[in-house]
Amino acid sequence: MIKIALGTSNPHKLEEINDMLKELCSEDIEFVLVDGDFNPDENGLTFEENSYIKAVEAAKIMNMPALADDTGLCVDALDGRPGIYSARYAPNQEAKIKKILEEMKDVSYENRKAHFACTMTLAAPDGTKLHVQTGRIDGIIDTKPSGEHGFGYDPIFFIPELNKTMAQMTLKEKNTLSHRARALKPMIDWIKTNFV
Ligand code: IMP
Repeated sequence: MIKIALGTSNPHKLEEINDMLKELCSEDIEFVLVDGDFNPDENGLTFEENSYIKAVEAAKIMNMPALADDTGLCVDALDGRPGIYSARYAPNQEAKIKKILEEMKDVSYENRKAHFACTMTLAAPDGTKLHVQTGRIDGIIDTKPSGEHGFGYDPIFFIPELNKTMAQMTLKEKNTLSHRARALKPMIDWIKTNFV
């Protein structure tokens, strides 16, 4: 049996990850949430650096290996913004969405391509980077928010093949295809092969 800490303070992320772990994990792996207020300084210049910062911090606090993700919305017409600044793009989520819609107001449908990028890092308390996985999903930025599920930028992230935004998907549906699922599934496979 191995214990791994989860380095996040975001309840939505946690709900998604826990739901996926129920399907993916056997009783050989137990995931525990990092104790206390978890708010490391995400001052890296890439998703990988920030996910590493969060994973090492959680691993040190819990004195066990820890997994953390860093995620961002990358919009082609905005040269990849907000990208690693997705969490800090405006003071609150409503304002972040409003800002993107405003910046995109004159952009045609064909030029509204975007993707969610997720990088997950597993790190040890001594700072060793044990494994990294990335996942992405492509879509377009809608002209208005729709949907009640999910969180963050989900209401404006439209997936044409499914004719719905990420916020119009149930948790289960999002977890079959999301950027986070595409990083977490191979990460769990790696942990099972190399760690358990
Ligand atoms: P972080 O990875 O927790 O630093 O999140 C960066 C920003 O992206 C925050 O504004 C989150 O709300 C947003 N975000 C993270 N994951 C998702 C997601 O799965 N869907 C939509 N927005 C997300």
